Amino acid sequence: MANKIETLKAEKDGLAVKAEIQRFAEMGWEAIDDDDLQHRLKWLGVFFRKSTPGRFMVRMRIPNGLINSDQMRVLASVVEKCGEHGVADITTRQNIQMRGFPIEDVPEMFEKFRAVGLTSVQSAMDNIRNITGSPVAGIDANELYDTRELAIQVQNLLTNNGEGNPAFTNLPRKFNIAIAGCRDNSTHAEINDLAFVPAFKEESKETFGFNVLVGGFFSSKRIAAAVPLDVWVAPEDVVALCEALLIVFRDNGLRENRQKARLMYLIDEWGIEKFRAEVEKQMGKPLAAAADKDEIEWEKRDHIGVHPQKQSGLNYVGLQVPVGRMYASDMYEFANLADKYGDGDMRLTVEQNLIITNVSDALVPELLQEPLLEKFPACPDNLMRGLVSCTGNQFCPVAIVETKNRSLALTKQLSATYDLPKVVRIHWSGCPNSCAQPQVADIGFTGCKARKEGKVVDGVDIYMGGTVGKDAHLGTCVMEKVPCEDLYEVVGKLLVDRFGAVPKQNGAALTHSAELIAVG
Ligand code: SF4
Repeated sequence: MANKIETLKAEKDGLAVKAEIQRFAEMGWEAIDDDDLQHRLKWLGVFFRKSTPGRFMVRMRIPNGLINSDQMRVLASVVEKCGEHGVADITTRQNIQMRGFPIEDVPEMFEKFRAVGLTSVQSAMDNIRNITGSPVAGIDANELYDTRELAIQVQNLLTNNGEGNPAFTNLPRKFNIAIAGCRDNSTHAEINDLAFVPAFKEESKETFGFNVLVGGFFSSKRIAAAVPLDVWVAPEDVVALCEALLIVFRDNGLRENRQKARLMYLIDEWGIEKFRAEVEKQMGKPLAAAADKDEIEWEKRDHIGVHPQKQSGLNYVGLQVPVGRMYASDMYEFANLADKYGDGDMRLTVEQNLIITNVSDALVPELLQEPLLEKFPACPDNLMRGLVSCTGNQFCPVAIVETKNRSLALTKQLSATYDLPKVVRIHWSGCPNSCAQPQVADIGFTGCKARKEGKVVDGVDIYMGGTVGKDAHLGTCVMEKVPCEDLYEVVGKLLVDRFGAVPKQNGAALTHSAELIAVG
C-alpha cells in the first residue's frame, strides 16, 4: 500500500501549488487545504511551521553557495519585513533559510527573488536539495576545476531555470548532489546521494574529470557513506549523468517505506553493478571506469580568515557566522561590506559561514577593522571556529532538543575555560536526522531524551572520530543519552583528554544563559 506522501503526490503534483499561490495569499493560511499547507507548499520551498503558526519559512536555492550583494539585500528585505519574527540561517548545504513571513507576502517575495535571479523552487520534500560546490571556486589558487558553472547548470536542469521542472518533482525521497573541484573535499562528498570528486583519467594527469560516488545519506534510521559507482566523467558530461541517474532513481527507487526510499536502498537491492548498468543505459553511451585515484589529498579547509586568491593582489576573507544565524541588519551589512571591499560577490560554506571575495591587498586591513567583524570574526577561537548547529526545537517540528542557543552558550563557556591548540569541530543536531552532520565532526551531538536523578531531561548521543578531507570517514556513537546539563564537564574532559585542551589561567566560566540568540 502506498504511504501517505506517495498518495498525496499521486493525487496532485507538489509543483501544482505554484499556480495557486496568489489564491493562497488572498485566502490566508487557515483556509488552505491541509495537504497543500503542510506538504505541497514545500515544493515551492515554503514551509508551514507548527511552532510559529501563520509565520512561514522559505528555503532558498543558492547553487555552489554563490550569492551577490543585490541578492543578499533582497533576502535581507524579506527578513526585515517580518519584524521581530524575521531571522535567517546559513545551512550546511551552503544555503539560506528565512523565517517569519506570512503567506500573504509570498507572491511579492517570489517576484523579488526572480528579479535578482534567485529561486526557492523544489528545495524540500522529494526534490533535489541545493547543489553544493567548492566555496572558493574560481578564486582558489590550487583548485583543479571551477565548479560554479556546473552547479548552476545542474540546478537549471532540475528546476527549469528556477521555474520548476515536473520531471523531477516526484522522486522517491530527497536527494543531495555535490560537485567538488578542489583538493580538500570541501563539500563532504561522502554524505551525498551523488557526488563528483576531482580525478584525472590517466596517470599523466592530462584529462580532468570526476570520479562518481553514490548513495551517501543520513537519516534517523541509518547513516551511509557514499560508495564508488566506478564511473569517471568529463565535466561536460556531469549534467547528463545527473539527469540519467535521477531518472533511474525516479523510475525505480523504492517508494513503499519512506524510511527506506533513499538512493542507497535501491543500490542495496540491485547491487552497484546493476545500478551502474541502468545509469549507463539511460545515458545512452558507455561510461568510463573510475580513475584509479581521486585528487582529494588535503585536510579540509574552513576558509575562515584572509587568503590570497589566484587573482594577483586579491584575497578572500572568510567570516565565521556563529551557528549560521543572521538578522536583517547583518545581511544588509554583509552586502555593504561585499560592495565596499570587493565586487559584491560572497560565498556560503557548508560550515554555515560566509566569505567576502575579491578584496584587494590594500583594503584587507580596513575590512578587518569593520564593526561587523566583532560579531562575525575573521579570526574566531578554535572552538567557535568549528561550531555547526542545525535549527533545533526553536523552529524544527521534529527536534528533540534546542541546539543553537545551547551550542553557542556551551561553546562560549568552554572557550572561556580552555585554550585549544587546534580547531575542534563540534556539530549539533537536535535529533537523529543529523542535519548538522554530527558524524563528520570531531565531536558530534544528536538530540535525545536522557534521565538524570530520576527525571527525563534533554540529552545527546555523542559521536566521535569523524574525519573530513582526504580519506574522510564517518564518526560513530561513543556515548549515549548524556544529559545536556552535564555537557560542560563531559566535553571539557574530552577536549583535555583527546584534543590537548589546557585550562586557561584565570579562566572565567560564563553562565549557561550568556548571550543567547534572540528567539524569533
Ligand atoms: Fe530538525 Fe533534526 Fe534536522 Fe535538527 S537534525 S534540523 S532537529 S530534523
